[in-house]
Amino acid sequence: WFDAHALLTLFRKALRDRKIDFITASATGIKREGNRVTAVSLDNGETLEAGTVVNAAGPNAGKVAAFAGLELPVEPRKRNVFVFEAREKYADMPLLVDPSGIYVRPEGSVYLTGGAEPEEGDVAPDPKDFDVNWPLFEEVIWPVLATRIPAFEAIKPTRAWVGHYDYNTLDQNGVIGPHPEVANFLFANGFSGHGLQQAPAVGKSIAELVMHGGYRTIDCTAFGYERVAEGRAFRELNVI
Ligand SMILES: Cc1cc2nc3c(=O)[nH]c(=O)nc-3n(C[C@H](O)[C@H](O)[C@H](O)COP(=O)(O)OP(=O)(O)OC[C@H]3O[C@@H](n4cnc5c(N)ncnc54)[C@H](O)[C@@H]3O)c2cc1C
Repeated sequence: WFDAHALLTLFRKALRDRKIDFITASATGIKREGNRVTAVSLDNGETLEAGTVVNAAGPNAGKVAAFAGLELPVEPRKRNVFVFEAREKYADMPLLVDPSGIYVRPEGSVYLTGGAEPEEGDVAPDPKDFDVNWPLFEEVIWPVLATRIPAFEAIKPTRAWVGHYDYNTLDQNGVIGPHPEVANFLFANGFSGHGLQQAPAVGKSIAELVMHGGYRTIDCTAFGYERVAEGRAFRELNVI
């Protein structure tokens, strides 16, 4: 694992160092003329003309695709992360994933855990719902942790937060590359459960599509939108 926010900050710094402009605004609409997207409207009133549009909207990706009249089965899913303290310190402990899907890893002097959301009722949340599900920690996660690592019978949860996964309802896998008909609309979506560790490779692949019209380094064809259009799952089992 690595520090996600530090990575984002480094990417931002690289953009600034190369004097590449970026705008902080929300896309509110996409103009489509036949089989091309031609412009993106923003909530600051601006409209950007576009030769290529990349959908990298995370949990919002399905909505952003719909702006262009395209269907993408990526929806938000609520996920809880809990932080706890333990008397025992395992500084060299690796990320541990229990077969139940519950994971735990050290984070400095504390530990992070999560991954126990019940399948029943796992539907798109209210976009403003970031309420922590504490019973999940008490009733589901803690017993699993204590069974696997007896020293974790005595732990103290300290804080927790909720985020929204970008969840591909077809196969929980990423969707990468152009729409087969609207070829200048590129997808980079559906990564939650695989995570941030794929982000640099996906970014490079998408950049190659934009610059060269094809993959040069990693062939991501298997993740293409075609399987979505055909309803053909390319299932990822190792998601947490
Ligand atoms: C609770 C939680 C824990 C996680 N833990 C891990 C972990 O331990 N390890 C790991 O590798 N991964 C983890 N992930 C997954 C990781 O965060 C995602 O895989 C990764 O962030 C996906 O990157 P992305 O750039 O595709 O989308 P995001 O990081 O979601 O970025 C999407 C961006 O699009 C913007 N956006 C949305 N709509 C619009 C719009 N209309 N106009 C303009 N911008 C828009 C959003 O504001 C956001 O900045 C976790 C995710 C969650 C929710």
